[in-house]
Amino acid sequence: MLFHAGPRLAARPPASGILAPNAEYRVPRGREERNPITALGSAAAAPAVTTLQNYIAGGWRAADAAEALPSHNPANAELLAQVPLSGPGDVDAAVTAAREALPAWRATPPQVRARAVFALRDVLDRHRDELGRIVTTDMGKTLSDAVGEVGRGIESVEVACGAPSLLKGDNLEQVAGGVDVEMVRQPVGVVAAITPFNFPAMIPLWFLPFAVACGNTFVLKPSEQDPLASVRIFELIDEANIFPAGVVNLVHGAHEAVNALLDHPGVDAVSFVGSAGTADHVYRRAATAGKRVQALGGAKNSMIVMPDADPRLMAQGVVSSAFGAAGQRCLAGSVAVLVGSGEEQDRSLDRIVSAARGLRTGDGADPAVDVCPVVSPAARERIEAEIGRATGEGGNVVLDGRNGGGAGGAELGPTILDGLQAGTRMVDEEIFGPVLSVVRVPDLETAIERVNSSRFGNAAVIFTSSGHAAREFRFGVQSGMLGVNVGVAAPVAWFPFAGWKASFNGDLHANGQDAIEFYTRKKVVTERWS
Ligand code: NAD
Repeated sequence: MLFHAGPRLAARPPASGILAPNAEYRVPRGREERNPITALGSAAAAPAVTTLQNYIAGGWRAADAAEALPSHNPANAELLAQVPLSGPGDVDAAVTAAREALPAWRATPPQVRARAVFALRDVLDRHRDELGRIVTTDMGKTLSDAVGEVGRGIESVEVACGAPSLLKGDNLEQVAGGVDVEMVRQPVGVVAAITPFNFPAMIPLWFLPFAVACGNTFVLKPSEQDPLASVRIFELIDEANIFPAGVVNLVHGAHEAVNALLDHPGVDAVSFVGSAGTADHVYRRAATAGKRVQALGGAKNSMIVMPDADPRLMAQGVVSSAFGAAGQRCLAGSVAVLVGSGEEQDRSLDRIVSAARGLRTGDGADPAVDVCPVVSPAARERIEAEIGRATGEGGNVVLDGRNGGGAGGAELGPTILDGLQAGTRMVDEEIFGPVLSVVRVPDLETAIERVNSSRFGNAAVIFTSSGHAAREFRFGVQSGMLGVNVGVAAPVAWFPFAGWKASFNGDLHANGQDAIEFYTRKKVVTERWS
């Protein structure tokens, strides 16, 4: 036990995990109620379903919310929990708790704060598989992908453990006779993080460990579509007493809770990840309220396929990027830019289609499955409507994954469209599903122009065996994260993570030294003692 959370602990319910290792899914901590959906049919047979609680000032408490949204397992439509739509009162309680905890936490020595982050790392590591299973159940992605996601989140925690070194300041002696100058980094204050559905365990961990290691206090608003991994992370923090009460807080909700955080005068900085439109809204609104903001937005990532690419590496790389996690990654390649003569382009396309045909679609909990369901039946319907629209705009469906949605109504297999032109939504806009558009160009120069014509600049990839082509690509492409013969070019957490152009609003990226810079303010002291 690292910190005693004080008298609030006494009022807590007994510790309970969402999912013990090797156990089946069970509902997380919260208020148990009749399942409103089943109850419509037969009240007597209705199972219990949990309304999630907020974690504020070191304890779980019911949200003051008139409404709640159901969270379902996308593989089988099982109702997992009700997610309360917290309002300004709940947000104010969380921000007030964070503000109250701030003076003592920022005065805590950095190496002691880092020890708390080490403890977080240990507890997450011990629950790696359990957290992975929660992600699969709540969001849908395959278990191996989900456990990998948790591992990537833990990597961010590991980087934040180095905060005492990373936070060190700078100085210059004798700038004038007897005058020295020193620069120190101090925390920004109360940090809010607002996160998306597609990496429900990893993305909260891009922010929480860095924010608190730098001496800030923290409020998380996770995605209302799949908040259970965040709930479990906070349960683990609570059970191990890793932080003093109020240092980390969790508020469930959607737009109203987000806007309350963006407007709240007690919030000093906002870290956001989500779609481009929301990132733009968050950036403008929070900046207008005088806050420091980083807002990572949507993407439309191209994969350039040169005729000299290693065929096996290329086909595997393209399909795992386009169809892994059902295309719901911000680094997913969703446009294949095939370079060369018509014959060379056809050969590349045949290889991609044949690799995609070998993928199995289904429940992410089944180890034989490669392509998980999308996050909800509504998402599947939206994506299928986009495919229908693209066929009306000249798209030729060379692989059709539309299959009626499967058991949970959210399954959609790999789909590939050839013959589309720039200017169509399928080529230009983020669809966020297992759909790959094919664009054909004669040479590398045109391919790079095609990549750069996108309003987005999150990631881009090239498959080639030519060092020259790879170098031209790396030098000329206007995106924040590039891959050379790597389909999903996710930087490890010691490097900054974010895109360019419409994929990012702000200056400092997530992770690495950028996170330390974002979560601190520099102060320069000029001193004379004689
Ligand atoms: P989203 O924008 O719908 O939601 C993200 C968060 O914003 C959620 O917490 C949600 O409650 C809140 N929100 C949504 N609309 C809002 C509104 N109008 N006002 C206030 N708050 C609002 O995104 P999503 O669908 O959950 O996530 C997928 C998106 O995230 C994709 O566009 C993907 O590319 C992007 N993403 C980007 C990165 C990156 O590093 N750039 C990483 C992961 C995901």
